[in-house]
Amino acid sequence: MILLDGKKTSSDIKDEIAVEVAKLKEQGKKAPHLAAVIVGNDGASLTYVNAKVKACERVGFESTLIRLSEDTSEKALLSQIDELNNNDDIDGFIVQLPLPKHIDEQKVIMAVDPDKDVDGFHPTNVGKMALNLPTFISATPFGILELLDRYNVETSGKHVVVIGRSHIVGSPMSILLSQKRKVGNATVTITHSRTQNLKKITLQADIVVAALGIPEFLTADMVKDGVTVIDVGITRIEDASKKRGFRLVGDVAFDEVSQKSSYITPVPGGVGPMTIAMLLKNTLLARKRRD
Ligand code: NAD
Repeated sequence: MILLDGKKTSSDIKDEIAVEVAKLKEQGKKAPHLAAVIVGNDGASLTYVNAKVKACERVGFESTLIRLSEDTSEKALLSQIDELNNNDDIDGFIVQLPLPKHIDEQKVIMAVDPDKDVDGFHPTNVGKMALNLPTFISATPFGILELLDRYNVETSGKHVVVIGRSHIVGSPMSILLSQKRKVGNATVTITHSRTQNLKKITLQADIVVAALGIPEFLTADMVKDGVTVIDVGITRIEDASKKRGFRLVGDVAFDEVSQKSSYITPVPGGVGPMTIAMLLKNTLLARKRRD
């Protein structure tokens, strides 16, 4: 079994980005500038957004964190987005999801200038991704492609089973892996909460991408020997023995599934860190595009 080490790989990617940023600066060019907007005080969201800002510092990007209160109106958030769209100093920005219930997430996603949409959530960018045109690929699926690439995991002609059909993970993952691209050319089955006989399907998979958000859902009896397993799930489980009071658990029963796997991502330290590295990659791309 080979561990697909997202922590190490993302650190390599950040080093590569830092070299590129240093080159830009040497040439007298501006460093990429990422802004992140967060509404409210959700603990997990704050952790993610802070990690993104910290990653910017590490690679030499400029970063701006905009914290808005939980009761911020949709109108005020849209006006903040408008300001970022028109701020020439900002190359790319993200609005951390989920948003409070009184704000229409789709409206917010639509308001972001597609050229600054480094999360790749705007329909223009999703459409380009689906057509295999150059665009910002959303960070989590992009990170999974990169991880498979760097570990030379063969996808061409393989049967990939994706569990989960969300707009940010399952759906784009299934589209990307089926496309004619370096990490792609797979035969993809996308499954979801209404899928029947899921186990029968996962048992046929050469690669399983688990993105449903149910801790330790994928068990050893659901996979064949030699499978590659990508665990996207992150659930906080209360754990008094931990300093933070919780531990992070993936969608895969790692101890048992890893024994049958040829490659597997751990949680934490797998897909999560890759997501941040690819957000930086998209921001660098946004900067270069604007030059
Ligand atoms: P979501 O809640 O939007 O979607 C879950 C999907 O799972 C749905 O499509 C649903 O149909 C499917 N599903 C639910 N129960 C199922 C079942 N019993 N069998 C088959 N399919 C089932 O989730 P999401 O936003 O895609 O996130 C999934 C998980 O990935 C969560 O734990 C989330 O925290 C995590 N996540 C991690 C990263 C990262 O960077 N590592 C990024 C995004 C999401």
